[in-house]
Amino acid sequence: MAKVLIIGAGGVSSVVTHKCAQAPEIFSDIVLASRTRAKCDAIAASVKQRTGRAVETAQLDADKVADTVALIRRVNPDLVMNIALPYQDLPIMDACLEAGVSYLDTANYEPPDEAKFEYKWQWAYQKKFQDRGLMALLGSGFDPGVTNVFCAYAQKHLLDEIHVLDIIDANAGDHGLPFATNFNPEINLREVTARGRYWERGEWVETDPLAWKMRFDFPAGIGPKNCYLMYHEELESLVLNLKGLRRARFWMTFSDNYLNHLQVFKNVGLIGIEPVDFRGQSIVPLQFLARLLPDPASLGPRTRGKTCIGCLMRGVKGGKPRTVYIYNICDHEAAYAELGSQAISYTTGVPAMIGAMMMVTGAWNKAGVWNMEQMDPDPFLDALGRYGLPWVVQDMD
Ligand code: NDP
Repeated sequence: MAKVLIIGAGGVSSVVTHKCAQAPEIFSDIVLASRTRAKCDAIAASVKQRTGRAVETAQLDADKVADTVALIRRVNPDLVMNIALPYQDLPIMDACLEAGVSYLDTANYEPPDEAKFEYKWQWAYQKKFQDRGLMALLGSGFDPGVTNVFCAYAQKHLLDEIHVLDIIDANAGDHGLPFATNFNPEINLREVTARGRYWERGEWVETDPLAWKMRFDFPAGIGPKNCYLMYHEELESLVLNLKGLRRARFWMTFSDNYLNHLQVFKNVGLIGIEPVDFRGQSIVPLQFLARLLPDPASLGPRTRGKTCIGCLMRGVKGGKPRTVYIYNICDHEAAYAELGSQAISYTTGVPAMIGAMMMVTGAWNKAGVWNMEQMDPDPFLDALGRYGLPWVVQDMD
């Protein structure tokens, strides 16, 4: 029986909070805190209506370490789940260290004034967490998160060595709007407009943003789609933790309509993160654009179709070549019917809850800062199917 403090009250947090509430035998107490308390209250009301459980709420600006420490000391949780934004990773980790509680997040740190994400800032906390006997679990969403665990599972059970890894992420849902992002618009647009990057024979190779494309035939009736090469954060840890790896890439599907909008935003400078002066006010163009775009949490009732995220891995087993594909299919309408959320929030929130479950039950218990593939994949994947994200292993030979 554990008490959990969830920070952030957006689309993903709503799923995390509902899913924790669905497991009262594990999460006996849930506290939800965020910058805008009304959003916490709205999630708490939905949890009450759907599960009958009460969620305590609080206002918190998690950029202020002292405020987070004070809240942690008052609430006294077994675990803090950072479901706010990547900008809050380091301040919340600092607060956890000071208050003596373990930490989990779903996305790696990004400095607000530089569109760049890297684990180096969080990995630098390794010794501090070890010395305090606390655990920090990084990237417990779907990608990163489940994709790392799929790799760990393949390495443990299916392949002696993984030589080639392609992580392929398709959101084949349709929300019927001209343009929307499926998670926080600012973070999403920083990610998709970054230069592409993949790893080959020990070196990183850069490409222009979304310059490389391939076609992949997705299962479950989704069919063939264009997939674009991007840099994605799980590659950084996977290339260090998978044995025998020769190449690792990440691909995501985008429609032509999405790409056309993105190109126009870029052309007119709306993706910029340098402040500009507008009528005596300093504004960041990307933050202004994000303000105008639909709130991803509002896409639930209007999105139809499925997501398919998985890892295609080629390697050897018992001296023979073998290719396996491990994936999950999530249906937007089913996610909405269950929790009032679209599938991207759902596929991120469920693994965040399961990561928390692994930590508070002691199934994963190791002082220090860890990526998901460094943990035993079996108990996590066991729970993943039970809590709404069944997965499939397909032999491709
Ligand atoms: P949202 O923008 O919907 O929600 C973010 C929440 O964080 C909001 O409630 C926001 O408050 C709150 N917040 C922001 N700054 C602070 C602060 N200083 N103090 C306290 N609360 C704050 O984002 P999403 O739910 O779409 O995404 C949440 C996280 O999940 C992001 O880090 C994202 O990168 C990650 N993610 C990970 C994925 C994965 O597979 N690993 C996939 C998708 C997302 P307010 O309401 O006031 O704005």
